[in-house]
Amino acid sequence: MGKEKILVTGAGGFIGHHLVSYLKEKGYWVRGVDVKHPEYGSTDADEFLSLDLRRWENCLKSTEDIAYVYNLAANMGGIGFIENYKAEIVHDNTLINIHMLEAAKKNNVQKYLFTSSACIYPGYKQNTPDVTPLKEEDAYPADPEDGYGWEKMYIERACRHYMEDYGLKTYAVRFHNIYGQLGTYDGGREKSPAAICRKIALAAKTDAIEVWGDGNQTRSYCYIDDCVEGLYRLFNSNHHHPINMGSDRMVSINQLVDIVAKIAGKEISKQYDLTKPQGVRGRNSDNEKLREILKWEPATSLEEGLAVTYKWICSQLVKEGRITG
Ligand code: NAD
Repeated sequence: MGKEKILVTGAGGFIGHHLVSYLKEKGYWVRGVDVKHPEYGSTDADEFLSLDLRRWENCLKSTEDIAYVYNLAANMGGIGFIENYKAEIVHDNTLINIHMLEAAKKNNVQKYLFTSSACIYPGYKQNTPDVTPLKEEDAYPADPEDGYGWEKMYIERACRHYMEDYGLKTYAVRFHNIYGQLGTYDGGREKSPAAICRKIALAAKTDAIEVWGDGNQTRSYCYIDDCVEGLYRLFNSNHHHPINMGSDRMVSINQLVDIVAKIAGKEISKQYDLTKPQGVRGRNSDNEKLREILKWEPATSLEEGLAVTYKWICSQLVKEGRITG
């Protein structure tokens, strides 16, 4: 086919699984690497290696004969997970990312993308629900999310050093809450849209569901199809500084619940649990740079994306025998 060979790490995870399919549709040869196979459907990768990327020799093996790397592998989860497993997260992700960068350099990889997070933005810019959208330069002076955010921020800089010192062309995206079908929806690692879809799917027509915090905390949510297209567009650009990848429509958790309830056709009320972690008070993406650099931004509405996600989670719960079809 004459196209460069691509490695997607974290190919057994939510975004990696979708990205592999997207790149296959574009005609690339793709190697997927992960410690686990995708949970909800088989991979489209030409080759799938089950490897633990905390280990140097596995990073070397993964990057052999590879021109382009999308490095998505990470030990991560929703707010409940990242607030409670900081040492494990920092340990695993540091090993994965430092070894992957060095292996990419050793194996003469041309281009390398790192998936950072909106969690790198400083807490002091996110302490009100009515927050000003975050611009890329707001990252400094640094005060990221403890643990997970600090590791992402440090690796953003490591990417810059590998580009400046060794000529490895690096890219870094700061994801803002990616959601969609084929993502974890139960077990403690799921994110808010999936958790809310699951709770509403399991609820009776006029039940209350548990909401973490007072529900006034705000976020923006980006649909998975937009996410993978954005990754591909960035990878084909000449922009090597960290960039936001998300939607700039901000909603509160309360609004998110109402949107899903409407999709489900249920009259759901909320029971607030103020003891549960809720992360920063408000967060939104400023997409000015994204528009300027990529001449593009995510287009799927929250209502459209959540409708697909809700339907998929319902079908999973039917398969598990937890609801009837
Ligand atoms: P995910 O948990 O579904 O996928 C990550 C994958 O990495 C998993 O399949 C996991 O098994 C794999 N992995 C973990 N440790 C590994 C190891 N030692 N060796 C090999 N593979 C390993 O998460 P996702 O939502 O697909 O996220 C992909 C990337 O995007 C991650 O780097 C994450 O930090 C980042 N990110 C995601 C979001 C989001 O909203 N989903 C937001 C910000 C950043």
